[in-house]
Amino acid sequence: MDERKPEGDAVVDQEVSRRGFLTATGAVAVGIGSGVPILAALASDGAAVKQDGPRWAMVVDTRKCAEQGDCNACTLKCHEVHNVPEIDSDRQEIKWVWKEPYKHAFLGQEQEHMREGLKKMPTIVMCNHCENPPCVRVCPTQATFQREDGIVLMDMHRCIGCRYCIVACPYGSRSFNWKDPWPRDEETNEAIDRPPNQEFPTRMRGVVEKCNFCAERLGTDQKPACVEACECQALTFGDLNDPESDVRKILDEELSQRRRPELGTNPHVFYLV
Ligand code: SF4
Ligand code: SF4
Repeated sequence: MDERKPEGDAVVDQEVSRRGFLTATGAVAVGIGSGVPILAALASDGAAVKQDGPRWAMVVDTRKCAEQGDCNACTLKCHEVHNVPEIDSDRQEIKWVWKEPYKHAFLGQEQEHMREGLKKMPTIVMCNHCENPPCVRVCPTQATFQREDGIVLMDMHRCIGCRYCIVACPYGSRSFNWKDPWPRDEETNEAIDRPPNQEFPTRMRGVVEKCNFCAERLGTDQKPACVEACECQALTFGDLNDPESDVRKILDEELSQRRRPELGTNPHVFYLV
């Protein structure tokens, strides 16, 4: 599998070719309402893939997070380093890391005698970098793909905006760029708001994006941006295949849970509740 697929902004030619692809393949005519590829994707058995090399995972300690009240440091840092725009619209907003009430994050896992405070507890959510990612299976262009280390990435240049992946993801982890996230003035072509991180590519209207587990930071001394920003150390990132890693030590000692385990997607984000 190609680990070097680029992320980044695309040019007008690519917009035209993406539309051409849609027409040629009939993807528009099929539409995102077609359930066939989605159902096939969810028929996975969820078995973990054994492999050499790292398998990256995140542990979220919701207890430490809850002690910080309405802290949003992880979201702010993630969105800053990845040039995620702030769009004041429930329908159009772009989200990589955000909070949901526990009962929404863990749909079907609440029960009537659960503590009321827990049902409403804001819980950090993101892409789960599933072992069996349905989003990858339904993508007709391989714009979203899984690396050998388990990270599910986007190649923006290949994305045709069909949004099959958004329908296939049972966690709502993907956002669609309904408009240019960093628009330019039509007359001067000057950026209206400059993206905060000039070293990370911006996206364009018509593509899907999501958390990338800070793939660009792996192999450097840096932790994922959200982990770095979290002062209460509620977030731990590491290699599931390394018995000495912090994530393995935590998971060996603590009772953890994952979102929607019944779907067989085998998420790589674990929660301590
Ligand atoms: S959480 Fe959603 S977007 Fe992320 S890998 Fe799983 S199915 Fe794909
Ligand atoms: S919208 Fe999603 S499924 Fe469609 S091409 Fe882009 S990444 Fe693939």
